[in-house]
Amino acid sequence: MELDEVVCFSRFSRVAICGGTHGNELSGVYLVREMQKAERKAKERGNDMEVITVLSNPRAVQRGLRYIDTDLNRCFTHAMLSGSNTNDAPYEIIRSRELNALLGPKGSRDAVDLVCDLHNTTANMGLCLISYSDSDWLCLHVFRHLQRQMPDVPTRFIHFNATNKESYSLDSVGKHGFALEAGPQPHGVMRSNIYTTMKMGVEHVLDWVCLFNSGFVFEGGSVDVYTVVRNIDYPRDRDTHNITAAVHPQLQDRDFCLLYPEDPLFLTLSGETLRYKGKEPLYPFFINECAYYEKGIAVSLARKRRVAIPAIRVQTEQEQQAKKDECTSEEEEE
Ligand SMILES: [Zn+2]
Repeated sequence: MELDEVVCFSRFSRVAICGGTHGNELSGVYLVREMQKAERKAKERGNDMEVITVLSNPRAVQRGLRYIDTDLNRCFTHAMLSGSNTNDAPYEIIRSRELNALLGPKGSRDAVDLVCDLHNTTANMGLCLISYSDSDWLCLHVFRHLQRQMPDVPTRFIHFNATNKESYSLDSVGKHGFALEAGPQPHGVMRSNIYTTMKMGVEHVLDWVCLFNSGFVFEGGSVDVYTVVRNIDYPRDRDTHNITAAVHPQLQDRDFCLLYPEDPLFLTLSGETLRYKGKEPLYPFFINECAYYEKGIAVSLARKRRVAIPAIRVQTEQEQQAKKDECTSEEEEE
């Protein structure tokens, strides 16, 4: 990557804002409903960009649950999307295929340009963009835009390295995508400050896309990225699998505050402090997330590093046409 090089991308014609992928994460549920009421306004955003708003798991939303049969946000691998629907298939498997038809198909030319999937966490994480890539320049530029536009909100970029494991979440259906996670908010509860943060975040995402489509050149620079290293589960009883300790009060709510070896990690139910035995200091997040008790995660740990991002801009119409012609002639040669 040359520093003075401007990297070009196709314009965004369709952007999806999804809420209620987890039915009890209410900021996204209510924000999507608000956006659907104001749909006309969204269409007026101009330069013929279509904003698609989706309530991802309507049955779970109706019942105020994370999911009905299985976690919808783990159902978007190619293998799960390509199986055939049987009568006894879990609801979320069927729903993931409907969403893939609406917003994808995943990995195809027809997929929407961007999926922004809204989530809440009970952890004290502020606003986070969560992505499978640390080199999707568009997503990293969106992130930097949010950081600049919302200086009072701690905003971070979390990178799940999915090289060994295929991407499984709804945002992976788009050509570009990320989860927008806001917290702390208990599941099944609305907190106005968290809702407002998420709403502002979504507005800035859409503003950025409009600015990008208009031909604005975004300068290069650098951003901090948190790459997940590993998860730690609660200490558990070997037979019952019940937890035997809770997150230590000195760690609770301290998401993204560096955790050093020998720092307190858990407090056992009998009052003993258990310490972090890792070899290197790492950044904890998703500390004591309610939904992760069933997944065996008490805290996730990440390494922070600075990533250089190039200047970017949208392709001009001529460039886009030239690329199309190139593709067509390649296809003809095959
Ligand atoms: Zn969620």
